[in-house]
Parts: sequence; C-alpha cells; structure tokens
Amino acid sequence: MSIEIDIAVAKVVAALEQQRLNDAAREALPFSKTMFSPDASSGLNSHLLTVVFAHKLPTILGSIRQEDAQWLRVAAGLHILGFDKASRRYLSEKVHTPFRHANDVTVRMTVFAANHQRRLQQFRETDVKKARVRGITENSCASCRAINGRVYDLRSLPMLPYEKCSCDMGCRCTVAAVLD
Ligand SMILES: [Zn+2]
Repeated sequence: MSIEIDIAVAKVVAALEQQRLNDAAREALPFSKTMFSPDASSGLNSHLLTVVFAHKLPTILGSIRQEDAQWLRVAAGLHILGFDKASRRYLSEKVHTPFRHANDVTVRMTVFAANHQRRLQQFRETDVKKARVRGITENSCASCRAINGRVYDLRSLPMLPYEKCSCDMGCRCTVAAVLD
C-alpha cells in the first residue's frame, strides 16, 4: 500500500509541477480523503487547485521568491489532495529560504486563501452582497478579533487570511454569507 501511495504521490507531484491539475486530481482520487471534499469529488478538488495556481498568494505570507511560490503551490496542491505528509516533505526539500511562518502554516494559509476566493466566487454567482467574518478561537490575535463578527460589503471585505493577523498558527478567519 505504501509503495502504491509513493507511486501515486510521484505522479501527482509531476502533474502539479506541470500544472496538469485535472490529472493531479484524478491520480489522487483513489487515495484522497480531504477535508474540503469529503465525497472525494475530483471536480471540486481540481477547481480548488485551479484557484491555488491562478491567484496571487495571500499578502500575509510576505514576499516569496517566484520559484518558492511555485513549490508552495505544489505543496498546497498535495495538501488539498490529502497527501499531508508528502506535502510537508516536498516543501522542506524544495524551499531553502524559510518563509515568515512555519511551512505547514504557510501551506494551510495558501489553501485557506484559495477556499476564500472560491467562496467569494460562489457569493458573486448567487448574488450574495454581504458577508460576516467569523472563525476566531480563544487564542486568536487582536487583529482577527477586531474583524470577527463584522459584516462587510463584499467589495470592502478584507482579503483572507487577514494581512494584519499575528496568530501563531496563522489566520483562520473565514466568512459566512449574510442574507438580508
Ligand atoms: Zn490572527
């Protein structure tokens, strides 16, 4: 089984590095149990991968060299497809200049950012105009607390993960549609 996983991971990595995102999702499908797509729908995963590769990285991550950004996207792709261990290993082998945050936090925020973009897209498609920020925990930083519970027009909604966040484990703020 572990050899099968290694082979699958190698194929997924190659596909992600070449931005063959549908292929990556398809290769991962038999193995992936992800939090974002519990029904293991490759369609949803390929969409999220597309967002990771198409959008700028969140500003909270600071300035990242272009090649590191590509490796980070591949690591985020592995994370999305449920290969967490492979994601950590890949990034630690590839990236020599440390990010501002720990590698796993950096990957998680990259995926959070993509999920946020996807949610905003759904809001626009369904004519949602306002959203409420939520998702703080008892350990959240003052910046995250300051925006928690606030309702924003979509156009003035801060980019999430929140640029001003100083939470140790990274920003976990998210948004919920406000229907009124
Ligand atoms: Zn925070």
